[in-house]
Amino acid sequence: MGCIFCEIINRGQKGDIIFETKELVAFKDIHPKAPVHILVVPRQHIVSLVDTDASRREILGNLFSAAADIARMQGIAESGFKVVMNVGRGGGQIIDHLHVHVLGGWKEEDNRELP
Ligand code: 5GP
Ligand code: ZN
Repeated sequence: MGCIFCEIINRGQKGDIIFETKELVAFKDIHPKAPVHILVVPRQHIVSLVDTDASRREILGNLFSAAADIARMQGIAESGFKVVMNVGRGGGQIIDHLHVHVLGGWKEEDNRELP
């Protein structure tokens, strides 16, 4: 059972990776819902937030602080942005590898549909 995010992380479709650390990788969403739409993904294959507990606190913290770094890098920290995590099918999660969406860069008139 292949995981597309593990493939991106391991095979490194490098063109798309915009930020990486020892624990996580960030790349552009293939179907962007905003002018800036980046996915932040732990290297470790964790299915969803429900598969985390206190032992994964550090990974979860790293995802959010990377989201802030990425927002600064992408020039959307000042204007503001959204950080979205979908959990399970009912929560809109399609890819079963934990991730956060970083969305921003809208103009006033843009529709702000969430992933
Ligand atoms: P979810 O609904 O699981 O929170 O979001 C999964 C996101 O992954 C979607 O926004 C979708 O566009 C994106 N996505 C799906 N397949 C690929 C892929 O192969 N490459 C990239 N870069 N993004 C993908
Ligand atoms: Zn995976």
